[in-house]
Amino acid sequence: MLLRIFVFSLASCCAWAQGKDGPQPRVVDPGGASTAPSDAVALFDGRDLSHWTTTNGGPARCTVEAGAMACKTGSGDIVSKEKFKAAQIHIEFSIPDMPDQHGQLRGNSGVFLQGRYEVQVLDSFRNPTYANGSCAALYGQYAPLVNASRSPGQWQSYDIVFHPPACDASGAVIRKGTLTILHNGVLAQDHVEIQHATPGDGGGGVCEAGPIRLQDHSGFPGAPVTVMRFRNIWIRPLD
Ligand code: MG
Repeated sequence: MLLRIFVFSLASCCAWAQGKDGPQPRVVDPGGASTAPSDAVALFDGRDLSHWTTTNGGPARCTVEAGAMACKTGSGDIVSKEKFKAAQIHIEFSIPDMPDQHGQLRGNSGVFLQGRYEVQVLDSFRNPTYANGSCAALYGQYAPLVNASRSPGQWQSYDIVFHPPACDASGAVIRKGTLTILHNGVLAQDHVEIQHATPGDGGGGVCEAGPIRLQDHSGFPGAPVTVMRFRNIWIRPLD
């Protein structure tokens, strides 16, 4: 009797498992601390700015120093040549120490997804400002869950999972986009629904693939001199 129960259980188990099985997951070399996964598209690997332009298509005016790109106030926003929709994005940044400035005037940049939605980059280490304008905020929409900022001058990271709004064949949005962010490995945005494009966005269509755009937070009177540094930028398109 026990044997029959055992055989029946084994058969049920394996039939169930086989019914649930599918193709094997694709193998990806996960890379390491400073190398991208094997299926990622490298947008900046420390060598050159060949994947970046200004917003009007000219050569990016940042410089490459010690494996990082350095973007100074006035050099303008830069955009990736590659465009994407849903993607996993990794980017590292170092914000300068600007003790004489406060709030939004300290080291300030932004990672625009699809050219439209700004994930704020700001020195938020002991630098209070409005919550949904602090580091790892979806600017103007969602404050981060926690403030996981490192002190200025240290390297920090974003790991982002981005799904743009879904559109039907007529170009109407039928589902809002979503965003998840790990800031320095700590969950800062948990699958939030994107409400609208960030004012001042690059103007790309909501249903179109778009670039990553890195913000030059200047162009207003009294803009402080800021040198933002970025490195190890890669994306894994999820479409
Ligand atoms: Mg910004």
